[in-house]
Amino acid sequence: MAKTKVIEAKNIKKKFDLGANVIEVIKGVSFDIESGEFIIIFGPSGCGKSTLLNIVSGLENVSEGSLKIRGEELANYDPNQMAKFRQSKIGIVFQSFNLLKSMTVQENVALPLLSSGGDYYKSLNRAEDLLVMFGLKDHLKNIPTELSGGQQQRVAMARALATNPWILICDEPTGNLDSKSAGEVMGIFNTLNQKSKKTIIMVTHNPDYLKYANRVIRLKDGLIDKIDKNHARVPIKDVGGFKPSEHVIGQ
Ligand code: ADP
Ligand code: MG
Repeated sequence: MAKTKVIEAKNIKKKFDLGANVIEVIKGVSFDIESGEFIIIFGPSGCGKSTLLNIVSGLENVSEGSLKIRGEELANYDPNQMAKFRQSKIGIVFQSFNLLKSMTVQENVALPLLSSGGDYYKSLNRAEDLLVMFGLKDHLKNIPTELSGGQQQRVAMARALATNPWILICDEPTGNLDSKSAGEVMGIFNTLNQKSKKTIIMVTHNPDYLKYANRVIRLKDGLIDKIDKNHARVPIKDVGGFKPSEHVIGQ
C-alpha cells in the first residue's frame, strides 16, 4: 500500500527579527514524513528543534520555503482554518505537561473536544475512555497536580489523542520525568506508533531514545546534519496500566 506523505518540508527557513538584528534559526531544511513513521529530531540545545516543531504544528510560520501537511500548504490557511488544523489535526505533548490546574484530569482531556464545539457529555465520555486506556480511571476527578509527573504526562498524552489527530508532536516529553516514568512514556509512544500506527514526531536530546524512532533527523545549527534509518525497532512491551484500544484511538 502506498504510504501517505503527512509532511513535506522544502527548504524551510525561519528568521526572528530581534529589532537590532535578525537571527536565522532554521537555515534551509527539507524532509518528508510518511504516515505511520516515528521520527525523532535530535540535536544539541539551541539548534532549532523546538522552532522546527512549532512550525510543523502551526504555532510559528515559516520565513521562507514550503510546508505541506497532507498536501495542503500551511501558509495558505486563513486564521480560521489554522485554528481548526491546530485543534483537530495535531496533538501536542510538552515537557512541562501544560495541564490546567483549575480543571479536573477528565476535563483537561476533554478540552480539545469542547473547544472545537464537541458535545459536553460525549466529550467527557471520550476523555474517560482515553483515561481508562492510560490506566488512570481512578483519577478522573483529581486535579492534575494531585498526580505524579508520570501520571500527568499520561494525562497530557490522552489529551493530545482526544481529537484523533493526524500527527502527535512531542517536545522533550520525558524531560521532566524520573527515568522509570520516562521509560514508561517512551514505551507508550512505541506502542502508539507500532500498534496503533500513530505518526509521531518527537524532539529529544537524549541519545538513549533514538532506538525508538524509525528515522532520526539530526539537526545542527539550524540545518539537517544527517538522517539515520533504524531497521530494528524496539519491540512493544507492556507498560503498567496502559492498554491501547483501537476503539478509543482509531487508526
Ligand atoms: P532547541 O529546541 O533545539 O533547544 P530552539 O528552537 O528553542 O532550540 O531555539 C533555537 C534558537 O532560536 C535559540 O538560539 C533561541 O534563542 C532562538 N529562538 C527561538 N525562539 C525564538 C523567538 N521567538 N525569538 C527569538 N529567538 C528565538
Ligand atoms: Mg527545545
